[in-house]
Amino acid sequence: MSENIRTIGIVGGGQLGRMLTIAAKKLGYSVIVLDPTESSPAGQVADEQLLADYKDGEAIKSLAQFSDILTFEIEHVHDKTLLALEESGKIVHPSPATLGIIKDKLKQKEFLKKAGIPVAPFYAVENKSDIQKVAEKIGYPFLLKARTEAYDGRGNVVVKHKGAIDKAVEKLKGRPLYIEEFVSFIKEFAVMVARSTNGEIVTYPVVETIHVENICDTVIVPARASQEAQETARMLAIKTMKSLRGAGVFGIEMFVINDDNVLVNEIAPRVHNSGHYSIEASITSQFEQHIRAITGLPLGATELVTKAVVMKNILGEKNGPGFPERLGEALKIPGVSIHMYGKAESRPGRKMGHITVMGETVEECIKKAEAARKCILI
Ligand code: AMP
Repeated sequence: MSENIRTIGIVGGGQLGRMLTIAAKKLGYSVIVLDPTESSPAGQVADEQLLADYKDGEAIKSLAQFSDILTFEIEHVHDKTLLALEESGKIVHPSPATLGIIKDKLKQKEFLKKAGIPVAPFYAVENKSDIQKVAEKIGYPFLLKARTEAYDGRGNVVVKHKGAIDKAVEKLKGRPLYIEEFVSFIKEFAVMVARSTNGEIVTYPVVETIHVENICDTVIVPARASQEAQETARMLAIKTMKSLRGAGVFGIEMFVINDDNVLVNEIAPRVHNSGHYSIEASITSQFEQHIRAITGLPLGATELVTKAVVMKNILGEKNGPGFPERLGEALKIPGVSIHMYGKAESRPGRKMGHITVMGETVEECIKKAEAARKCILI
């Protein structure tokens, strides 16, 4: 199959698309991306960019016309068009049917529960009166979550008391909602898993993720946790992957309650922020792995090439230009690698780039990553 593929079409042109494109180009493929922003992060490195919204079905059909295979870097794409294209014979990975389940977080949780995968207790709600009823039953705090268009912490509110319900509903207004019980986890994990078109599955090391205000801030590899907890997470990741169809790399986020009790928080049917470290620190990066997986090439080894690695996001601090100041100061620190995503403008909380530090211990890497982040102004 890989012999007939020359051009890969990617729906979405953000940083994930950019790093996927670079990996695809390394293997010799041509890449076309579809994104509404002119000169998008991926558009800057791809052979071509179609300028259109990734929810525009007609534009996705044009992308399909010029591409031998389609993939996506975000969940909020027009999955029904992808499904129709797949039914008409186009190769689309991961499976649009899987995307249809995952992009609605309530459907995703219902699917996982049915598949016997442990998740936090959740409740469907239609309106404020439903929310009040669930709140009376489960108490506070709880999470009010948007079912759709929820990413980078933009779809969650922790509701701490009855008086906070109105504000939470207002913050998430316009989107269908559901409730999740608050989980007192000791740690958050993520496991990247890849499946090839012939069904082979490989996992990456279990990583520890640290979120600040619901946004991924730091990823620590290996996770600072017992072997038992890591094995529980790895087995859970494989079980989760087996419950879903489709080739490609998936990111599986988890809450660790204790060594034997790990819950799945969320699945990303795509490369993921918690796998960015793999560009420098793994034999095969998650981006190359995704390209290998969807084009029918053999999967690559997932072992680390270092004892420890830490990734820290460079989140925007203010409105202004997207190119950082004092990049050189950060790069003076030995072992620091920096990836900037080429976004034209910085905004508070926007993912502008990331820092990767490899070393002998995670403590040393954390210190260097924090020092590098402090240098950069953006
Ligand atoms: P999400 O966008 O749903 O993946 O959530 C982003 C982050 O919010 C998670 O990584 C957690 O840090 C926090 N979070 C989400 N759901 C819960 C929950 N049910 N209980 C406690 N914290 C949560």
